[in-house]
Amino acid sequence: MMIAHVGSEVRVFIRSRPTANFAQELIQYLPDGQTVSVHQRKDSRKGVVNNQLSSWSFRLDGVLHDVSQEEVYGRVGRGVVLGALEGYNGTVMCFGQTGAGKTYTMTGATESYKQRGIIPRALQEVFHEVEQRLDHTFSVHLSFLEIYNETLVDLLASVRGCPRVGPGGMVVVEEAGGGVSVRGLSLHPVHSEEEALNLLFEGEMHRIIGAHALNKNSSRSHCILTVHIESRSRTLSDAKYVTSKLNLVDLAGSERLGKTGSEGQVLKEAMYINKSLLFLEQAILALADRRRDHVPFRQTKLTHALKDSLGGNCNTVLVANIYGEASQIEETLSTLRFASRMKCVQMAPAVNEHTDPVLQVRKLEKEIQLLKQELCIHNTLANRMGMSYDTLSETQVAEIQSQVQRYLEGSLDEINIVSIRQIQEVFAQFKQAMQQQEQKVKAQLCQNYTLVEKAQSTAASTAAKSRGSQGTVGMVEGHGFGVGVAAPSERHIRPLSPGRTKSIKTKELASQGRKEAVEGRSPGPGKPVESVNPVQRDREGREHDPQSQEPQGPQEPLRPDSPPPKAEAFEDFKAERGSEINRILKENKLVLLERRARLRELTEGVNTAKREIDSTSTALRQWRDKRQSQGQFVSAEGVPVLDEAELSLVLRLRELKTQYRQQYEELCGTKAEVSYCQHLVDQCRTRLLTEFESWYNESFLLPEEVQAMLRSGAPIRPGLVPVYKALALEEDEQEHFERLRYELLADSPSAISFYNAQNRTVQRRNYSKAMSQAPVQKTTPRGSGRTKLPAILSVI
Ligand code: ADP
Ligand code: MG
Repeated sequence: MMIAHVGSEVRVFIRSRPTANFAQELIQYLPDGQTVSVHQRKDSRKGVVNNQLSSWSFRLDGVLHDVSQEEVYGRVGRGVVLGALEGYNGTVMCFGQTGAGKTYTMTGATESYKQRGIIPRALQEVFHEVEQRLDHTFSVHLSFLEIYNETLVDLLASVRGCPRVGPGGMVVVEEAGGGVSVRGLSLHPVHSEEEALNLLFEGEMHRIIGAHALNKNSSRSHCILTVHIESRSRTLSDAKYVTSKLNLVDLAGSERLGKTGSEGQVLKEAMYINKSLLFLEQAILALADRRRDHVPFRQTKLTHALKDSLGGNCNTVLVANIYGEASQIEETLSTLRFASRMKCVQMAPAVNEHTDPVLQVRKLEKEIQLLKQELCIHNTLANRMGMSYDTLSETQVAEIQSQVQRYLEGSLDEINIVSIRQIQEVFAQFKQAMQQQEQKVKAQLCQNYTLVEKAQSTAASTAAKSRGSQGTVGMVEGHGFGVGVAAPSERHIRPLSPGRTKSIKTKELASQGRKEAVEGRSPGPGKPVESVNPVQRDREGREHDPQSQEPQGPQEPLRPDSPPPKAEAFEDFKAERGSEINRILKENKLVLLERRARLRELTEGVNTAKREIDSTSTALRQWRDKRQSQGQFVSAEGVPVLDEAELSLVLRLRELKTQYRQQYEELCGTKAEVSYCQHLVDQCRTRLLTEFESWYNESFLLPEEVQAMLRSGAPIRPGLVPVYKALALEEDEQEHFERLRYELLADSPSAISFYNAQNRTVQRRNYSKAMSQAPVQKTTPRGSGRTKLPAILSVI
């Protein structure tokens, strides 16, 4: 994290190396102490020889001419160093031609304390401040990097205990947040000014010193000494800390190649130096141009390594070293131009603040400890003893579980609230208990029932609400499993029509009405519709008294209430659902009875006629036998003559036979009609019984799946439907059979077998519920002429 300060430009100073041949006519320092004017004669080498001068003026942050090392540090270095101690990155950089005094400015004369440069003074200042700032702890590390011919060299690699650099060598790497560092560069902790200076001098010794025409000690490389500072507040003891890097940079000479007359190795060095400085200048130009997004820091090691020191989060100061002799005027101009460009670069220094995670945890732990102590004090003051705020132990959790169980069972009246953790655990235990209960109920229901879909269960739930229940745990409509009430008997009741519930009610009312009629009272108009069925009454009584519920084994399915007697149910059925077919049946029976009565009359008539015929025939035969014994009574023509009595008998016999035939023909027709009517009545009765059986089974007996199969027309598994039990034959039918039996037996005892067989056939037909559709055979024996009269006439 960085705390940004107000943006600022790079501060640029001019420092001139003292010389007896200072070109006063060409270089003028104006009294403001910030401006340098440079005059240059026209280039004589280009053949133009005159006294014309070109003039330039450079306004910078300060001109350090004939100024002591101490003052230079004071004006150039001190602010940057102090900023680094506060957490700001800082860079002090010397730029200029070889021999202009860069090394003198940065390092100074190593043999003279008074002439020591910015680096030793900065190190001194750092440790002086570290000693002064007792409210902070500081850790200081040093690294010393040399860039020579585009190669990174660790000037402190020879220091004892320094880790060896890996095969990849050192690499400039960019860090998160925009900073750069050199991977593989050794970092040396220093605890005092002396330790730091030892490292500085150690590194200086290793600098590559090239032989040079102008200055045999002139360095041919860029050197960057970095002071890494980390500071933490002693007083705040928080996890925050600040870091900073203080780069002290001694650049290689910026002189042009041709001027020095370099050759061979020196030429190569000069090329690299110029190249890196050229790119440094390009980077600076790019930084100064705010319209440019990309800054080519990575073109050389120098610019890459100085990326975070040239632009961005850094206090940067440039010292442009010049050698103020007339012969060096071009280099001076070049250096001043670079300096003026550098001054345009905007910087945004910011404090590098970080949070130490380890410390943060420690801090929070300490805070928790303090708060616990605070709670303890509060509890003591409130007389709450033995409070604990630690995570619950297994024993404590088990105790809470036991409390919740006892609370649910009713043996524990309340659970005392002790702590937030305890409350949370109590809720967790309640949740667990509820889930277990739910699973248990679900398993039990699955064992006893095939659970119905929501849509199907709606009707049952509605019926359950209206009819009451046995207070069992069941599936509550539309809400999955839950503890509720449902009537198990309703699971077996399915309407034959949408108004099934109504039909049940009506049935119950009808039943009630009958009973009340017997008892001489009637249900009042305002009387609420409720069942007086003793079974239901008993059920309702138990419903209001849960203690009286009889325990039921888990394996035993919940049975419906006892079905009503069939005879009673049949009466109800005939009165309502089967009323139409019952009406037709009654009408058919009336017709049948009427035809049977007629058949009886005809039978009696025929039998009477037969008896009279027989007696008349006998009388006539006897008469003729008597006459024959007395002699033939013949007429004059010899034709036998009937006497009056015989004639009377013959006429009577003829009349009787005519009567017999007529009655017999009518009897045969009536018999066919009776047979047909009987068939219709049988059909009606069978249908009435079949429908009643279906209704009764579906309403009171059959399991749900069988009812569904019945409705769908699917074949029913044997055994699922109760054996059909025919109702007792109705009284009129029984009477009819008994009467017929008596009559026939009276006429002919041999008719008993016929009667029995016929009676069994009728019963079989009723039992099997077979809907005989066979056409009625009309066997009306319309006699044409003389027919042998049957001795016995059977009916049906
Ligand atoms: P550079 O590092 O730029 O090549 P140096 O710092 O080595 O140049 O300076 C070259 C010579 O000039 C050195 O002998 C140094 O002592 C001397 N010199 C440079 N600047 C000053 C100064 N301001 N005061 C005294 N001597 C100086
Ligand atoms: Mg130097």
